[in-house]
Amino acid sequence: MTRDPDCVFCKIVAGKIPASVVLESDTALAFLDVGPLAEGHLLVIPREHYADLSAMPPEEAASMASLIPSLGRAARKVTGAEGFNVLVNEGRVAGQEVPHVHAHIIPRAVDDGLGYRWKPKQYAEGKAAELTGRYREALTGE
Ligand code: AMP
Repeated sequence: MTRDPDCVFCKIVAGKIPASVVLESDTALAFLDVGPLAEGHLLVIPREHYADLSAMPPEEAASMASLIPSLGRAARKVTGAEGFNVLVNEGRVAGQEVPHVHAHIIPRAVDDGLGYRWKPKQYAEGKAAELTGRYREALTGE
């Protein structure tokens, strides 16, 4: 098991600091976020230390993600939320503060004040085709 002794989530996995754990599997763990954006805000993490999602082997990522449907159903039941967001921040630029991969499950209610300030743009002529080609090339052999 890879652990980073300085990592707060590795310390939770090792039982060295407390956490409100709601679900455990052989490979992953889910617990209440200590600074919730909404009541019942959860984090799901792999037991193994990976800095971010793109560092994860696919089977580890799948194992972590496999907990999300039941956690989401439980979040609806427990909090009365009408829905939830699943969010992974990768990299400081995207808001990642803890460098041990984690998915947020954030219960949502109407007019809860949460949300994105994303403004969709449009591709210039030919740009989508160019990007598609570059993505396909980058993914070759992945
Ligand atoms: P992110 O900005 O995506 O890296 O999110 C990190 C999250 O971890 C934040 O929402 C924090 O509130 C949460 N967090 C940090 N330390 C702990 C802890 N010891 N127990 C539970 N949640 C934590």
